[in-house]
Amino acid sequence: MEINIYYIEDNKMKWTSLNELREKFLSFFESKGHLRLPSFSLIPNNDKSLLLINSGMAPMKKYFTGEEVPPRNRVCTCQKCIRTPDLERVGHTARHGTYFEMLGNFSFGDYFKEEAISWAWEFLNGVLEIPKDLLWPSVYEEDDEAYAIWRDKIGVSEAHIVKLGKADNFWEHGSGPCGPCSEIYFDRGEKYGCGSPDCKPGCDCDRFMEIWNNVFSQFNNDGAGNYTELVQKNIDTGMGLERLACVMQGVDNLFEVDTVRKILDTVCEISNKKYGENAKDDISIRVVTDHIRSATFMISDGVIPSNEGRGYVLRRILRRACRHGKLLGIERKFLKELCEIVIGQNDNAYPELKEKRDYILKVVVLEEERFNTTIDAGLGILSSLISELKEKGEKIISGEDAFKLYDTFGFPVDLTREIAEEAGLSVDNGAFTALMEEQKTRARAARGNVSGWSDSSKDLLSKLPETEFVGYDNAECKATLLSIIMDGEEVETVNEGECSLVFNKTVFYGEGGGQVGDTGVILSDNASLTVIDTKKTNGVFIHEVKIESGALKKGDVLNLKIDTDRRLSINRNHSACHLLQAALRKVLGTHVEQAGSYVDEHRVRFDFTHLAAMTKEEIARVEAIVNANILMSESCYTEVSDIESARKKGAMALFGEKYGDKVRVVSIGSSSVELCGGTHVSSTGEIGLFKVISESSVAAGVRRIEGTTGLGVLALLAEKEDIITETAKELKAQNPATIAKKAASLQSEIKETKRELESANAKLSELKTQSLLENIKQVGKFKLLTAKIEARPDSARGLCDSVKAKFSDGVAVFAAISDGKLNFVAAAGPEAVKCGAHAGNILKEISAICGGKGGGRPDSAMSGGRELDKIEDALARVEEILKQY
Ligand SMILES: [Zn+2]
Ligand SMILES: [Zn+2]
Repeated sequence: MEINIYYIEDNKMKWTSLNELREKFLSFFESKGHLRLPSFSLIPNNDKSLLLINSGMAPMKKYFTGEEVPPRNRVCTCQKCIRTPDLERVGHTARHGTYFEMLGNFSFGDYFKEEAISWAWEFLNGVLEIPKDLLWPSVYEEDDEAYAIWRDKIGVSEAHIVKLGKADNFWEHGSGPCGPCSEIYFDRGEKYGCGSPDCKPGCDCDRFMEIWNNVFSQFNNDGAGNYTELVQKNIDTGMGLERLACVMQGVDNLFEVDTVRKILDTVCEISNKKYGENAKDDISIRVVTDHIRSATFMISDGVIPSNEGRGYVLRRILRRACRHGKLLGIERKFLKELCEIVIGQNDNAYPELKEKRDYILKVVVLEEERFNTTIDAGLGILSSLISELKEKGEKIISGEDAFKLYDTFGFPVDLTREIAEEAGLSVDNGAFTALMEEQKTRARAARGNVSGWSDSSKDLLSKLPETEFVGYDNAECKATLLSIIMDGEEVETVNEGECSLVFNKTVFYGEGGGQVGDTGVILSDNASLTVIDTKKTNGVFIHEVKIESGALKKGDVLNLKIDTDRRLSINRNHSACHLLQAALRKVLGTHVEQAGSYVDEHRVRFDFTHLAAMTKEEIARVEAIVNANILMSESCYTEVSDIESARKKGAMALFGEKYGDKVRVVSIGSSSVELCGGTHVSSTGEIGLFKVISESSVAAGVRRIEGTTGLGVLALLAEKEDIITETAKELKAQNPATIAKKAASLQSEIKETKRELESANAKLSELKTQSLLENIKQVGKFKLLTAKIEARPDSARGLCDSVKAKFSDGVAVFAAISDGKLNFVAAAGPEAVKCGAHAGNILKEISAICGGKGGGRPDSAMSGGRELDKIEDALARVEEILKQY
């Protein structure tokens, strides 16, 4: 690749492309003994505190804490990063972007301040040839060591070293490792300055730009402000690649950096706009440019648009890009084209972009199509609403209307606002927000709702203590009856019918976490009940029971006993569900996230994020992995711990889900660790066997697998066996193993028979025609054949056609009867037509005799009739008609 090198007069920098800068940095630190690691995925690995990697240091955390041993004690990376807290600001200024890359060199107990400082200087001043007088180091005011290195070892004059306080130059995050920093600032020149004689790094103006931060992790903070020296001291540095590119390319902001500018120019090309001409367009151009970069890298790392967690971040980013494309007047789909530019600009450093190109483009196109559908539906409604309001002279779109657009059509309210503004209208934001709040409250209430219960019984429920659940380890227990609820009202006693019971404790699992509620029996000396279902709301377990005999009253102590066989089947399916999820991630990739699940005694149903239908091979691999886990008969155990240690164990959990302080961590064998409140087997071997029943689509980007285990597999086998036995019997196969052969030979027999039948039929109709033709007679200029035949209309037409083909002057008229229905079919040869015969007219006249209607072309026609006893008259009439011609 040829690179044009030229010097920007303003700051004397050697122009270097972003891709070249990245390479220069990494190979420089390789030459200093660092191991070059590829960028980590944007999806944090086992770090649930983070949605997306947002700094070069984030994926290194486990090396710094000593939790994991780094592959070498000095490494360097260029890390993909995404930051979205100020998503709405992106585009409005040229300073905000969501995607950037971070260069960093790291030492884990290896080199320290002296090397870090020297190499930073050597790279900027030596390799990149940034003039000395444009570089300003800063140190923490109490860090004399760093100050001395800058002054004595590097030779920076004291006037050029800035001392800054704790807020700027001390890195600290609560208790734990911390330490001073030393930053390097770049002087952009007086024209960016405030003019103050004190203007230097740390000043509020734009003149000095921080480009590199070196963190010296040196102390441990005990949490009370006592600092002790760490035994293992670390170096953690970070330099924004785009920011460095700004310096080296002499440009003002990220959007002017070569690789980014290329995307921006393509946006302008597609939209036919010029950047820098119109402030409003510029915002949209920047939004699209930035967002397509983020989206491309997120999808490449396995994020799929969804309504949750990082999937939702991606969806917002893509939709925002779509919308701003529309604002720029782009009518067609355009994101794919831009995506290809992003891939082309980055695939040397990130070869996975090339590998996943088709996949990335597919995700983008799908999401763009989905958004366009939403927009099209909403736009129509909104524009008629706007013209209606304008006619009435009103200026405000009501909160109700905006909410309806949002709630029913998924139309984003900021878009409603924007379009309203363009039409000189506004949206009643207050009313809209109130409706949103109301909806949220409704949703909350719905979650705590038990269907069919009156408000008073709901009140009652909220006063009852949480039920103690002892069903993880027990199949039966004695419990005190706290409340009886019948027809939604609390009663003191009950002696028949169905009602709901609440106890102080229970062994019955209340439906939740995708697992059905338990069934079973409740007994006492004077009562017997069947438990039909068990539900749970706010920790209170509700047993829906049918009283078989006897009577109950509040305060009774009863014996609760679950249906153990059913529960064991549920356990098997639930544990298999966890194994299934782990296997899917192994086979399909880490983008697989749970989108819903359901287990009962018959089957397991698991919904997950994935774009394409699974292939037969993929399903077979998943099945094989799950069964291998089962056959190893590994032990399963549960542990109640705090959320932090659960995370450390790598427990999978949905983002955005709120867990209490204490969580239940379920490990199924060695391959699955999850937060789960359900009931499980104690060894994977208990599952018996796992079989996938079906794989299907639930929604765009969401697939569903259904499977079964243990006795369910046995039932499946029995069912298949029945089918085979039945089939063998029908096929008269002695041995079921031969049914395929038998079926194949039957097939070819049928084929042969069909062929023979066809030729026999052909011969037969030939004979029929022959015998019919004997009745042909000369009527004037025509050879006429009329007949009443038993035949379906189409075969009668075939007969007609053969007459027509044989005799150019022939006219054939048949009354064809099949299934008691009459049809007339007529045909006239070319010569006959020339002489005036008209099949259509003939039929029109004769079918009328039989009470029917019809007609057709001169050479061919068909009609119906109802009165079968008049057929002879009708056919006789043909001769008279022909005589007239
Ligand atoms: Zn200043
Ligand atoms: Zn579970």
